[in-house]
Amino acid sequence: MSGIPFIDLQAQFRHLETDIRAGIDRVLAHGRFIMGPEVAELESALADYANVKHAISCSSGTDALLMPLMAWGIGPGDAVFTTPFTFIATAEVIAMLGATPVFVDIDPRTFNIDPGKLEAAIERVENEGTLKPRGIIPVDLFGLPADYDAINTVAKAHGLFVLEDTAQGFGGTYKGRCAGSLADVAATSFFPAKPLGCYGDGGAIFTDDDEMAEKLRSIRAHGKGDDKYDNVRIGMNGRLDTLQAAILLPKLAAYPQEITARQRIAERYDEELKDCVEIPYIPADYTSAWAQYSVLSEERDALQAALKENGIPSMVYYPQPLHLQGAFRLLGYGEGDFPESESVSMRILSLPMYPYLEGADQDRIINSVNK
Ligand SMILES: *Cc1c(COP(=O)(O)O)cnc(C)c1O
Repeated sequence: MSGIPFIDLQAQFRHLETDIRAGIDRVLAHGRFIMGPEVAELESALADYANVKHAISCSSGTDALLMPLMAWGIGPGDAVFTTPFTFIATAEVIAMLGATPVFVDIDPRTFNIDPGKLEAAIERVENEGTLKPRGIIPVDLFGLPADYDAINTVAKAHGLFVLEDTAQGFGGTYKGRCAGSLADVAATSFFPAKPLGCYGDGGAIFTDDDEMAEKLRSIRAHGKGDDKYDNVRIGMNGRLDTLQAAILLPKLAAYPQEITARQRIAERYDEELKDCVEIPYIPADYTSAWAQYSVLSEERDALQAALKENGIPSMVYYPQPLHLQGAFRLLGYGEGDFPESESVSMRILSLPMYPYLEGADQDRIINSVNK
């Protein structure tokens, strides 16, 4: 029996090989490796896909989160609210600018920030008076959008921005709207293992706000003004390589079919696993991009070990919530501060999920879990 990968990028490459190679060859021929024509072509296709005015490609998902915070002038003394149950980058960018991440626990059913707990957290910081609440970074974890109507309402009431971390969510929808269009600004990642990935690091920022888009394009190129040797603000080198844009173009064209395939695979998992583990909860009027198919089990570690014995890979996202990580020790949080995040981190397990997962392989995974 051949091994089942956790994510099969080779299967996707075999599917799209002709177009991907042709795109790479075109870039090698024209030689415009930085901001070549494929970058603008990709940005326009991404904006169309997400149904937003501006898509600004960039160097990674982390930089896609960092640059909007720079544009808003986030710095020391500012509080930015986010979830502790996410990848480190979400909160790291806040701390990188000298601001303070303030964690808010998750809804244990969706694994996303709990809007009911958000307002209380904002009011607590307002009343303490030491930090200035500035914004919120919800995460579309595992591909499922957060509850943006509720979050945007709280944000508006307190004068805060909302930055959607859709590194895992791009391709999902919320009440008929696309992930990437659900907040003031959205950030996604093209890390190879994300649902829409390139062959290196990459990311994109989405917004309808013309002024924000202008600032982001400037920050992406060292704070350039009218030309690149007239620098009007502090920026960074945050561009996406032309080669990565060329690789993403055929992948984006195939993306709608891939999302459909992920949905079909998720439905099959749901149907076959629902009596044995807690399957993902997708609220009515939401769709997931299925970055991960994650189940809950009280015997998670035993399940993972048994799967491994059967040659089935699985991953724990995330074994430790951010408030318990060494990097954030100075924030002073401790065990018990975010009980839902802590509890989910002990029970969560992600199964192989990719659009080219074969039926026979999925059978093997399903049988192993049920056994
Ligand atoms: C992957 C990821 C990021 C960071 O993206 P990179 O491209 O790896 O920098 C940020 N947030 C979340 C939720 C992610 O999953």
